[in-house]
Amino acid sequence: MQHLPIATQKRIALVAHDNRKSELIDWVREHKATLERHHLSATGTTGMLIEREVGLPVMKFKSGPLGGDQQIGAKIAEGELDCLLFFWDPLEPQPHDPDVKALIRLATLWNIPVACNRATADFIISSPLMQSEYTRRILGFEDYLNRFGLKNST
Ligand code: PGA
Repeated sequence: MQHLPIATQKRIALVAHDNRKSELIDWVREHKATLERHHLSATGTTGMLIEREVGLPVMKFKSGPLGGDQQIGAKIAEGELDCLLFFWDPLEPQPHDPDVKALIRLATLWNIPVACNRATADFIISSPLMQSEYTRRILGFEDYLNRFGLKNST
């Protein structure tokens, strides 16, 4: 089992599909005072909208359909993101559906908090853990390596 720290200041990634962008922007506006204590990043269009509409600084990846979801997934795997707010669209297929699934898979695997809807985002943002350190546990990879007589070096 691996233990990885989440610091008091969280590195939060935000992504919203087109039909859910207005809801995410509204949520960010509602929680601006809390969110400005953390470090925000987002897929390209979502990030530009947050900056323009709410005035919070956001580190922007590529737009989701152009690879932004995959960039965020890579950051999660490298331990550089602590929380994912991913307002994906459950009613319309996306051109980058495989990337959407991959991002949710990596966030689950690396055991970071993930919100796919507003209620969960509300629960996360109001958790006392947002204002303290936390240790997340990552299960399983050692068992896989043991099958081949290997030890984890990453
Ligand atoms: P966007 O990407 O913020 O660039 O629109 C979101 C997505 O569709 O993954």
